[in-house]
Amino acid sequence: MIQTKGYAAQNAETDLAPWNFERREVGAHDVQIEILYCGVCHSDLHQIKNDWFPGVFPMVPGHEIVGKIVKVGDHVKNFKTGEMAGVGCMVDSCQACSECQQGLEQYCQEGNTQTYNNLDREGRPTYGGYSNTIVVREEFVLHISDKLPLAATAPLLCAGITTYSPLRHWKVGKGHKLAVLGLGGLGHMAVKFGVAFGAEVTVLSTSPDKKEAAEALGAHHFVVTSDAAQLKAVKGSFDFILDTVSADHDMNLYLSLLKTNGTHIVVGVPAPYAIHPFSLIGGRKSLAGSGIGGIKETQEMLDFCAEHGIVSDIELIDIKDITKAYERMVKGDVRYRFVIDIKTL
Ligand code: NAP
Ligand code: ZN
Repeated sequence: MIQTKGYAAQNAETDLAPWNFERREVGAHDVQIEILYCGVCHSDLHQIKNDWFPGVFPMVPGHEIVGKIVKVGDHVKNFKTGEMAGVGCMVDSCQACSECQQGLEQYCQEGNTQTYNNLDREGRPTYGGYSNTIVVREEFVLHISDKLPLAATAPLLCAGITTYSPLRHWKVGKGHKLAVLGLGGLGHMAVKFGVAFGAEVTVLSTSPDKKEAAEALGAHHFVVTSDAAQLKAVKGSFDFILDTVSADHDMNLYLSLLKTNGTHIVVGVPAPYAIHPFSLIGGRKSLAGSGIGGIKETQEMLDFCAEHGIVSDIELIDIKDITKAYERMVKGDVRYRFVIDIKTL
């Protein structure tokens, strides 16, 4: 077994603290990565707090992982030691169902194996990237171009692919008016991709002080959602809303901002909310959702980012400051992703 250092929540009530654990030995089809950086996703906080469902504890969060390959199994074909690599939200899937065959492992009919807060196919708990090393089967490891600055690339493994995938699926681009609801880790990547794909991008935000930063990201317009006059001015105007909000919000209000035939795409996961049928019926609107992205598409997104010079805007933190980082994230006080420098572990 591989002795591993990490930070874990022992239950939903306590803060993260140092915790040592074991990972499996490197199997014939496995890659071992020395983790250098790990992004801090709002999903990490939702999960350690049992917001969605009772978690698997002790829980080592982290699914925006980048680092250096230190060992590969005998049958590994596509990776070599010394290369940079990434791991996102999944570490396994059945590889046989129609979804897996289409490169949609996130929707595997048997359920994908999440990088942490899950049991693997042998029933062992999975542990994430707030740790110094990880062992992952080759099919779930991503190549990272030398052109990409490593720390700022980590958030692409979740925030990046979670916004890239729906924008590609719905072919959002030239001629479309896209609203990005919530300018956090996911939202700021959605702005970058929306602009890169040629859409006219509006940020819908609760934080007036993010206006200049949103424009610096390339957003064409900025609307403060608490300002009734600003909201009224964009009523019925968007082809797509990409909803990245992590907390309770009024879906009926935001659906009213769509054009006839517009689509509201949910990626944020707050507590369940109420939607009035008339909010969809009036204007033949679609309500959709999207989960992360498949492995092939994640590689495509990373390559697109390397080609177009797209990375996340980050604040690098020491792992001992993780609880403070969560508190700031909840207040919307991060521009736009915290990334843990794993050497501080
Ligand atoms: P984040 O960095 O905290 O950003 C969320 C943003 O939502 C905040 O910056 C804030 O933006 C806005 N917001 C927060 N509370 C709000 C409220 N009460 N009303 C309106 N807006 C509010 O979080 P994140 O890491 O981007 O994650 C966002 C959500 O996506 C989380 O729920 C996460 O679990 C989920 N997620 C889903 C997937 C998936 O596969 N579907 C993948 C990753 C994450 P403003 O300051 O601009 O208002
Ligand atoms: Zn995430």
